[in-house]
Amino acid sequence: MTNIQNPDFEIIIESPGRINLIGEHVDYSGGHVLPAAIDKKITLRFKNNNTNSCFIVSKNFKKQFEINLDNLLRSDTEWHNYILGVIFHINVLKPNSVKGFDCEIESNLPLGSGISSSAALECGVAKGLNELFDIGLTDIEMITLSKDAEHTFVGTKCGIMDQFAVVKGKKDHLLLLNCETLDHELIKADFGDYKITLLNTNVSHNLASSEYNVRRDECNTALEAIQKKYPEYTLLAQVRPKVIREFEKILPKKIYNRALYVTKENRRTLKAVKALKENDLARFGELLYKSHRGLTNLFEVSCKELDFLVDFTQDLDYVIGSRMMGGGFGGCTINLVHKDYFDSFIEDAKAAYQEKFDLDLTPIKVAISDGTRKV
Ligand code: ADP
Ligand code: MG
Repeated sequence: MTNIQNPDFEIIIESPGRINLIGEHVDYSGGHVLPAAIDKKITLRFKNNNTNSCFIVSKNFKKQFEINLDNLLRSDTEWHNYILGVIFHINVLKPNSVKGFDCEIESNLPLGSGISSSAALECGVAKGLNELFDIGLTDIEMITLSKDAEHTFVGTKCGIMDQFAVVKGKKDHLLLLNCETLDHELIKADFGDYKITLLNTNVSHNLASSEYNVRRDECNTALEAIQKKYPEYTLLAQVRPKVIREFEKILPKKIYNRALYVTKENRRTLKAVKALKENDLARFGELLYKSHRGLTNLFEVSCKELDFLVDFTQDLDYVIGSRMMGGGFGGCTINLVHKDYFDSFIEDAKAAYQEKFDLDLTPIKVAISDGTRKV
């Protein structure tokens, strides 16, 4: 295995994970989301090897594999597919632009914790190859082809939020993204005396990849039923809550709940941005709790560990907001905690979590940082 400090590596890319303040599970329905790139990241080193093969090393997995560029097929090993898929989709856009290369991957992002190590990896590979072979891909092309790679090679029918946040993130700013139009606005991430901390349940969200696609199908089912009466709607998040309520007796309860969640969550994102702009942090935090209740009761993607952590914060006046973050079924909660109580909060949460589940809770302090970049 080559040393990651090897000076032969020509291109070094840092590709961050992301948080999402609010707007969960609405990107694939064309809703509004409020993510940001963070200081935890994947570092990828690339060099041209002048062959027709690629040699990829994951330092985290202590594993490597070889890719034959003449025969790009899905692999049975999940992590290979993130890289294979990106190469495949670059070649769809710009035929024969990827040549043989070596790549080393090293990460301080927890995997499968809802911080989007997957998008960090995809976008890091796309950016690195774009630089190494001077392919001329735009940011939007890298974002879209990374998402496509996750659909076709990995099999998760994700929305566009993760890749967008990872590539377009800006230090100290949140991204208000309209996932229908890709219009976006940078919002200053000013939480006053409150700091963001993630609490990693250390419960893996394995279920999430299958349930994720189920949720996506359920949202489509709701939309198709609504379109029979209102063909003007092309995405579920466009449908107003009032219109969804007309379908309460028509749609199966579960499908109705999914649709109601999506439209409400979409609105919550916009309300949260308004609250932030008005410096109304209490309102902002309240919306985070409402988002969590929706994810638990209507969208049903939470789990007992996440619910416990959110409930734990509910009556603490130094925590203004808390909710599960990411695909769900494990991973992290995101919390806004007063700086004076930060350390004691983490200690108390760890102790309570340990006692309840006999599991370690890992706090992850995050700073909002720039998106995928060449170093
Ligand atoms: P999340 O995106 O929330 O971290 P996912 O399940 O979507 O969770 O993606 C995690 C997967 O991404 C891992 O199981 C692995 O296949 C791939 N991955 C992420 N980081 C690395 C890494 N450093 N080395 C190899 N594969 C990685
Ligand atoms: Mg992911």
